[in-house]
Amino acid sequence: MARYTDASCKLCRREGQKLFLKGERCYSNKCAVGRRPYAPGQHGAARKKLSEYGIQLREKQKAKRFYGLLESQFRKYFEMANRKKGITGENLLQLLESRLDNVVYRMGFGTTRAEARQLVTHGHFEVNGKKLNIPSYIVKVGDTIDVSERGKKSVRFKEILDVTGAKVVPKWLEVDQENLKGKVVALPSREDIDLNVQEHLIVELYSK
Ligand code: SF4
Repeated sequence: MARYTDASCKLCRREGQKLFLKGERCYSNKCAVGRRPYAPGQHGAARKKLSEYGIQLREKQKAKRFYGLLESQFRKYFEMANRKKGITGENLLQLLESRLDNVVYRMGFGTTRAEARQLVTHGHFEVNGKKLNIPSYIVKVGDTIDVSERGKKSVRFKEILDVTGAKVVPKWLEVDQENLKGKVVALPSREDIDLNVQEHLIVELYSK
């Protein structure tokens, strides 16, 4: 019998939706959300009525886990979003989506955000022609993102593109897969972000 062993999948099951933490597996019938559509743990299958706080907490955890951030990092983005003009919840998602590791993932240069983050940290990318190994860098419109010369020679990116090549790239990014480079042509709007979250509940949680 197939066994479910991976902690990443537990996070998706807890949130009741796919967070796409495992690359290729997430698109296969091995995905644990489809096979075990209830929360992990002994009482996971029992229905629980969540309090208002519980609902807000789940929405925050979902977004935090989707982007692979720790609480302190996530809170920092909320504070940045709160200081910006506009709708705080949308500002928050736009900031999270604009992180360099997420952009690399969206461009298909990583099979997961975690892999994209590792590749950035290991110096495999150049932003505007200069090596940048900071996954939290917030991209700007017009930024160019290139796989480094060293990266272009490695088979790893070929293997990654074999997995991600057919993935739809969001319209705020341009990608040239053949030459392993891309460009930020706009900032992501709420409709561009495929995270099923009620961001206003995150704002309410942090505003208490
Ligand atoms: Fe696991 Fe990916 Fe499915 Fe989440 S979406 S449960 S990480 S296989």
